[in-house]
Amino acid sequence: LPLTPNGSTPVRALTIAGTDSGGGAGIQADSRTMAMCGVHACVAVAAVTVQNTVGVSGFHEIPPHVVADQVRTVVGDIGIGASKTGMLASTAIIEAVTSVCVEVGIGRDASIPLVVDPVCASMHGDPLLHAEALDAIRNTLFPIATIVTPNLDEIRLITGIDVIDDATARRAAEALHALGAQWALVKGGHLRTSDNSTDILFDGDTILEFTSPRIDTGNDHGGGDTLAAAITCALANGYSVPDAVAFGKDWVTECLAASYDLGAGHGPVSPLW
Ligand code: PLP
Repeated sequence: LPLTPNGSTPVRALTIAGTDSGGGAGIQADSRTMAMCGVHACVAVAAVTVQNTVGVSGFHEIPPHVVADQVRTVVGDIGIGASKTGMLASTAIIEAVTSVCVEVGIGRDASIPLVVDPVCASMHGDPLLHAEALDAIRNTLFPIATIVTPNLDEIRLITGIDVIDDATARRAAEALHALGAQWALVKGGHLRTSDNSTDILFDGDTILEFTSPRIDTGNDHGGGDTLAAAITCALANGYSVPDAVAFGKDWVTECLAASYDLGAGHGPVSPLW
């Protein structure tokens, strides 16, 4: 992505998500990715997780009106080119985020594109979303998304479809699109059936495929956040959705190759360079 010369105002993006005290995923991965992509990161904290490289032991939700106020206050002053959502924890936060996005012009039918990463659980299976909030993800947040980026576990929870091959991936893309998102990305990274990782992108009309080599590393914490944040950065720079996904996929592949050991568990995808 183009870098801004020192001293001039860079492109800005906003992440609405949860923190990770271990610095690997969530808002930390988003902010680091945005900075590394030359984009100034604004953050609206929706939840604080108690987390290290081994797992998430708890989380604390920010009051919904405080989440919405963070969005309102940065969009009005700083102005942003694109936004993303990550961990939103509860129905009340999802509803508050959706209405403030509509109010300030974030979303598929507004001027600021919205990437929705429907975070439900950590890779260890620790919940990051109350189960009853799945309805709000489906019925409230998805209909304003420019693109949704669920992983295979999230697809199963949201659509009931178990993605095991190309045919089920296509069915899942159709089901996600039918919930109202402009574009649906079905991420094949967790499907361990080949040496490649193939994602499919669907806009209700055309299916596009994105393939990259599978990088086998145990240091894969925050991979979904890193991909969605990189897509957000590309959209903030004016890329089309397919070009932004191509950029994000290359970015996360490079990050996986450069990820590092940390703690006793999974190190972060988002490296430092
Ligand atoms: N913690 C937060 C705040 C997150 O947003 C996410 C992922 O989206 C995770 C943890 C889980 O990351 P992973 O599934 O890579 O462990």
